[in-house]
Amino acid sequence: MNKKSLLNADNKDILIVDDTPDNLRFLATILSEQGYSVRKALDGHMAITACENLLPDLILLDILMPEIDGYAVCQLLKSNEHTRKIPVIFLSAIDDILDKVKAFEVGGVDYITKPFQAAEVLIRVKNQISLRTAEQKILNLNIELEKRVQERTLQLELANQELKRELCERQQLQSQLLYRALHDPLTNLSNRTLFMERLDDALKLTQITSDYQFAVLFLDGDRFKIINDSLGHLVGDELLIEIGNRLQTLMGDRDILARLGGDEFAIFVDKVKDISDAQNFADQILQEFSYPFKLSRAEVFISASIGIVLGNINYNNPQELLRDADTAMYHAKSQGKSRYCVFTHDMYQQAIKLLQLENDLKRAIERQEFIVYYQPIVSLSTGKISGFEALVRWQHPTLGMVFPGEFIPVAEETGLIAAIDTWVLQTACRQLRNWQEQKVIDEDVSISVNLSVRLFSQPNLLAIIAQAWREIQLKPQNLKLEITESAIMENSQAAAVILQQLRECKIELSIDDFGTGYSSLSYLHRFPVNILKIDQCFINSLNQNPRNTGLIATIINLAHTSEMKAIAEGIETPEKLAQLRDLGCDFGQGYLFSKPLAAKSIEDLLASNPQW
Ligand code: C2E
Ligand code: MG
Ligand code: MG
Repeated sequence: MNKKSLLNADNKDILIVDDTPDNLRFLATILSEQGYSVRKALDGHMAITACENLLPDLILLDILMPEIDGYAVCQLLKSNEHTRKIPVIFLSAIDDILDKVKAFEVGGVDYITKPFQAAEVLIRVKNQISLRTAEQKILNLNIELEKRVQERTLQLELANQELKRELCERQQLQSQLLYRALHDPLTNLSNRTLFMERLDDALKLTQITSDYQFAVLFLDGDRFKIINDSLGHLVGDELLIEIGNRLQTLMGDRDILARLGGDEFAIFVDKVKDISDAQNFADQILQEFSYPFKLSRAEVFISASIGIVLGNINYNNPQELLRDADTAMYHAKSQGKSRYCVFTHDMYQQAIKLLQLENDLKRAIERQEFIVYYQPIVSLSTGKISGFEALVRWQHPTLGMVFPGEFIPVAEETGLIAAIDTWVLQTACRQLRNWQEQKVIDEDVSISVNLSVRLFSQPNLLAIIAQAWREIQLKPQNLKLEITESAIMENSQAAAVILQQLRECKIELSIDDFGTGYSSLSYLHRFPVNILKIDQCFINSLNQNPRNTGLIATIINLAHTSEMKAIAEGIETPEKLAQLRDLGCDFGQGYLFSKPLAAKSIEDLLASNPQW
């Protein structure tokens, strides 16, 4: 017996079933020699009992046996779950084709005919054992594979769960980021981006639903800055949150409230029949603003101005809608605040005009389109010119001469006024110096220059102005500055600093349009004022209204008792001149003497040595 065959047969258990002891013996011998472990059974019952005790790897089964033949044994084994896999090789002397077929039908795997050839038996046994071993291996591999698949499935499932969790986290983060991108962090209301998206959706709806209309309300707090500046930003923030809360109570299910920034809110009112719906809504809002806002540290009243526009098929994009609502809101402000205005096309034209003016104004400085006109100020005691007021004009390339009333407010709003006023001051001072050098005026003739309210928020500006004036080498009494009462009152702290600087430079100060501004006169004692310019409106109605005569007399008196001078503006007739002289007014200015003129025309006027 060689080593290889021993290894092959090792541990393989073969059950031989035959009622002929010789056969049993023969087969047992040749198989044992090959290293198989062999068990023997003389009939079918013994065979089945042997299988129940220990499963053999192969059964050699005789067909013809008493009591129960090989086929029946095989069928019994095959019908039992436990034993059905055992390969069965039938042994028989019968070499009949039908029986062989039957042998395979009942589950046999092979067939050996008697008398046995040892070599044939061994090769057939070996084949079946190999097959069985291979089958077993495949089975084991399958089990192993199954196990691995299960493990991998579990791993995959875990990985999948992890992935789902990460995905969920990422989605949460994403929605948080999205929320932040579309909401105002202070009030949690929609922000401009989200609001615009909603407007866009609504506009699309107007294109497909013919009778669908909505309204956009643009709301801005009135004088919010004062609350912020005086009570602090924390209170300001709290107020904004409260405003948001209060507005929210008025919103319908499909309405949208957004904070656009600062104290600006926008409201989308869904499905309005006509403008009256939106107006009613605005009325409710104004009503809500009539109650105080109770904040943690203060109770605050604030009003709001609202612009209304109807969203319908006429609009193409949300920006236009918001722009028009904004324009209407500005209109509401200019009408006196705490009200609403419905947008009209005129407002748009006006806004465009203003915008154009603003743009042109920016370029006007570079392109030197400004020109200074001079209006004589006449001493009423001598009747001679004692000074000039410098009044700026804008020579617009297409609009022609533009007067300050039209562009000064725009210049103030945009901050361009500083550059304009500085330029006027330098030009007027240079012109006066020029006239002095030409000896067309006396040394004591002065120039008055208007200073805007806005300049008072730039404390160092006056230092720059004073420096320019010194460079031109004018005497302090040659320059007078005109400011309005409101300039002083609205910026009293800054004004105090600037006026102090003025006093140090010995430059005189006039209060322009006196009598039209604040009723409080207390500032006259606090600030170094030298001249009161009585506003034209008092002079205009001098003849018609005796009360005005009394008022003018009072102002002149006030000036004189406080060591100031009085100038009457807007004198147009000799009668008024005479009256003002009677009242003891010091100086006069008006069309009666001369309209504001360009420098060259002033020189012609001076050449005629006028006296009134
Ligand atoms: P204001 O300083 O009160 O100037 C007097 C205004 O009254 C001038 O108008 C002048 O032309 C006009 N006026 C003078 N006499 C008469 C008269 O007899 N009858 C009538 N009806 N009007 C008369 P103007 O030049 O249009 O200036 C208007 C305002 O613009 C000025 O009022 C002043 O507040 C402002 N302004 C003018 N130039 C400047 C400037 O360079 N800077 C600043 N910040 N404001 C300026
Ligand atoms: Mg003036
Ligand atoms: Mg005036």
